[in-house]
Amino acid sequence: MEISSVDAIPLRRELDASFANAQKWIDAREYCLVRLETTDGITGWGECWGPVAGNRELVESRIGPWLVGRDLANRQAVIDELRFRLQSAYHSYVPVSALSGVEIAMWDAYGRSVGATVGELLGGRRRETVPAYATGHFFSDVDEFETLRDNIVEEATGHVSAGFTALKQKIGLERHFGWDHTADLALVTAVRAAVGDDVDLMVDANHAYDLPTAKAVAAGLDDLDVTFFEEPVPPQVRYYKQLAADVSVPIATGECFAFEQSFDALLDAGALDYAQPDVTSVGGIEMTHRIARQARAANVPCYPHVFGSAVALAASLQVLSAIPGEPRLEFDRTPNPLREELAEPTIENEGAMVPVPDGPGLGIDIEPETIERFRLDA
Ligand SMILES: [Mg+2]
Repeated sequence: MEISSVDAIPLRRELDASFANAQKWIDAREYCLVRLETTDGITGWGECWGPVAGNRELVESRIGPWLVGRDLANRQAVIDELRFRLQSAYHSYVPVSALSGVEIAMWDAYGRSVGATVGELLGGRRRETVPAYATGHFFSDVDEFETLRDNIVEEATGHVSAGFTALKQKIGLERHFGWDHTADLALVTAVRAAVGDDVDLMVDANHAYDLPTAKAVAAGLDDLDVTFFEEPVPPQVRYYKQLAADVSVPIATGECFAFEQSFDALLDAGALDYAQPDVTSVGGIEMTHRIARQARAANVPCYPHVFGSAVALAASLQVLSAIPGEPRLEFDRTPNPLREELAEPTIENEGAMVPVPDGPGLGIDIEPETIERFRLDA
């Protein structure tokens, strides 16, 4: 079960219309996938968080060559050694998105080689379907607040019509539109009024606010019965600790944190109520599973962050199948052929639930035609 090759597969899709969160406009969806092959003819797929640039060079020139010849049966020891080597190479950081991408590919290939799902290999499946919340409600390029609000309300009611009982919307309009946080609260108020009180409503600021503004927004969100307030402030444990001490709305964070010690620090500080590691940026499948269990021990639910291709989605579902408690899937609802057409079976919701793929490894088969259609280096 030796690794024989590791390749970066760069994909990019231009969007018909750009959309924004509080941080940035998004004009394209870009993914660096990892394709790993073994000496006995098995292929595994992984996905790195973030732009192709950086991930691709690391996988191709540094990580891939070192992985060739390693035994997948020893994958955890191999990943630990790789992490050590990257830390010693880069000192101030570990390029954890590239590390995560190859780790996921190793789990996929190993699962295929032994005929087991990744969830089974993580200790066994606790569920066959996962409750999902619909992510979307990004900002479109409009002049009037009312237009933006009406677009987002229409999207939200569409998700409820599609069977979702939980939604997450974006806030943090000021950077792009100049509208202050009272507009953000007006946006949430409009969605709450449209979907009613029986829908779980979550809010994501993509760390738009300073602490005083985050506290003001938190007070408003409390009145709107929001399930959680995600990334109100920049990803520093100290900010989260200060905020959590002063607000009553539950706080969620994790997509900008990596490795177990970051989540240890957040949990020790009582700084979060929902943990959101991203399998493609936190360190991979085993790391996400480990953090979910750490969080569970602190009575904090784990709702992994997911905003990737079908590979990231399948990897997240495999982890979700195995973690204790009552996790939920973040289910990106923005139209995207690299989520909908990259793999068989297509991962879709059945009402408020999403089935976990039950084939070996990640449980999906990659469609070569979709890869060719979106390859940056084709
Ligand atoms: Mg987020």
